[in-house]
Amino acid sequence: MTITLGTPLARVRTRVVVPLRFPDGYETSAEVHTFTGLADGREHLALALGDWRAALADSSIGGPAPLVRPHSECLTGDVFGSERCDCGPQLREAVERISETGGFLLYLRQEGRGIGLYAKLDAYALQDTGLDTYQANLALGHGEDERDYTPAAQMLAALGADRIRLLSNNPDKATQLATLGIEVAERIPTGVHLSEANARYLTTKRDHTAHTIDLPLAG
Ligand SMILES: [Zn+2]
Repeated sequence: MTITLGTPLARVRTRVVVPLRFPDGYETSAEVHTFTGLADGREHLALALGDWRAALADSSIGGPAPLVRPHSECLTGDVFGSERCDCGPQLREAVERISETGGFLLYLRQEGRGIGLYAKLDAYALQDTGLDTYQANLALGHGEDERDYTPAAQMLAALGADRIRLLSNNPDKATQLATLGIEVAERIPTGVHLSEANARYLTTKRDHTAHTIDLPLAG
């Protein structure tokens, strides 16, 4: 576990406007930030959405903190619409909700809960033999969840957003960010994006890690 002390400071490297259009027609615009000094050297991004400058100004005088969603990269879900998980719909929802109130989507390059893309696909194959998503990671010699939110905290600090409203169902994200010096003023749950294909995945996530997911399923 990383701690605040000794966490190197990151700085904003560049900022560029990217118009976004999702497959369902939803459009918004992001100011995409890149950084220097991120702890793991990966190319993480912060998408500043909506009136994020006003949100930061409001927060500095005690108003609502900017809405922030740390989203871990999921190539299959984000790009190809995989129904094995709910990452694509989660990303789509987060972009719209943050655009409405002003804040940041942190796009974190930690695929497959940090184990990488190939290992994630290997884990899918194991899941098809009956293991759940966490057991499969362990069977491959990985941790259940290897994600590290140090770069997320560094990006927020560099953006001046050290006080946030966290859009997440994952209590571990809130805990890690708080440990890393980010004040989580509020945790706001995301919607549930249930399909036949991801029902088992979501149920496991809820039961295994105390995710706050309100599933309309028995058990
Ligand atoms: Zn996914």
